[in-house]
Amino acid sequence: MKDRLESMQRSAHAALAQADSEAALQEVRIRFLGRKGEMTAIMKEMGALSPEERPLVGALANRIKDDLESALEERLASLREEEISRRLTLERIDVTLPGRRPFSGSKHPITLVTEEISEIFASLGFGIQEGPEVEKDLYNFEALNMPKDHPARDMQDTFYISDEVVLRTHTSPVQIRTMLQHAPPVRVIAPGTVYRRDSDITHSPMFHQIEGFLVDRKVTFGDLKGILTAFINQYFGRGTGVRFRPSFFPFTEPSAEVDIQCVICGGKGCRVCKNSGWLEILGSGMIDPEVFKAVNYDPAVYSGFAFGMGLERIAMLRYGVSDLRLFFENDLRFLKQFS
Ligand SMILES: [Zn+2]
Repeated sequence: MKDRLESMQRSAHAALAQADSEAALQEVRIRFLGRKGEMTAIMKEMGALSPEERPLVGALANRIKDDLESALEERLASLREEEISRRLTLERIDVTLPGRRPFSGSKHPITLVTEEISEIFASLGFGIQEGPEVEKDLYNFEALNMPKDHPARDMQDTFYISDEVVLRTHTSPVQIRTMLQHAPPVRVIAPGTVYRRDSDITHSPMFHQIEGFLVDRKVTFGDLKGILTAFINQYFGRGTGVRFRPSFFPFTEPSAEVDIQCVICGGKGCRVCKNSGWLEILGSGMIDPEVFKAVNYDPAVYSGFAFGMGLERIAMLRYGVSDLRLFFENDLRFLKQFS
């Protein structure tokens, strides 16, 4: 029996040496020391021994059991150490590598221009109003002195939703909506998206405008010139040349287009200003009495002016961008330059 115990001890050690995982160790433990294991099987035969032999064999069995238990513990500890050093090698982190910068977005150039212009007019006492992009024909045209057969409608290639509903072709309907809701005095700018059937290097079917208007008693063309000149001096720099050219819009009378001295060549003449030295940046005029009638303002008591500018054009001049379509292609290489 002594021989059988010792032989079992040897095969247990051999099995331990081969066990290469915690699960394999557990199998070895069950096979040799478990309740139905080899040790138990041998000890069941203790009854057949003589009373003198029994304590000797019992003591030997206990020593072997202790020996195997501690061998198991040792093997388990070394397996865990191997696992740790294996993972340390595999999952090594090179702390000298540069970190990954989190990607941060930036404001779109059209948003930047809108915010800058809005801030300047806010400092001049203008509030900000918005209106719907799907607009009634009534507000987009008729109330702005453009009845259904008016030739000026042809200038604005319109997207029609139905006979009475359009995608707004300008931000001017916000004037009508504001004046219908508020009695004068009003002093408002209205930035927003507008739509026309037009697409080339300087036109996009979707683009942005800022509309502004002021209505009060005794507002004159001098006020229009004063406010717009103050804006241009703040936005393009003090001393920027400004000129007002007579023009025509159905909703203003008299009307003027406003040019600034070319910001590219300083007025000497270049490709951008077509060698004129001037750049047109906005349209303006005194609000037509017909428009006041449409919103129930008394033209005998009140007068006012309005102006509108294309934000893409301003952004192109501001940032020296030559193709308007770049603003809408969402190319990150382009957009990142404005962060
Ligand atoms: Zn120029």
